[in-house]
Amino acid sequence: MTSEEQPVSYEFSCAAAGAVTCGCEVKAESEEELRKVLTDHLAKKHKVRTPNETLLDHLVASAKRSEPA
Ligand SMILES: [Zn+2]
Repeated sequence: MTSEEQPVSYEFSCAAAGAVTCGCEVKAESEEELRKVLTDHLAKKHKVRTPNETLLDHLVASAKRSEPA
């Protein structure tokens, strides 16, 4: 298997993920960055200090993936 070289950007919104009261939107250039940004956001805005992998997986899955043409 070859690793993906194509840049993928992610657009995440808390509302789309179920946190309708937040209204925060986050953009990231990679899944790794998105996870970092979300971890930081969860800690600051949602008082989730250590989000577990399951939660992060769920949030990443709910983010909008866009691959530049
Ligand atoms: Zn939020």
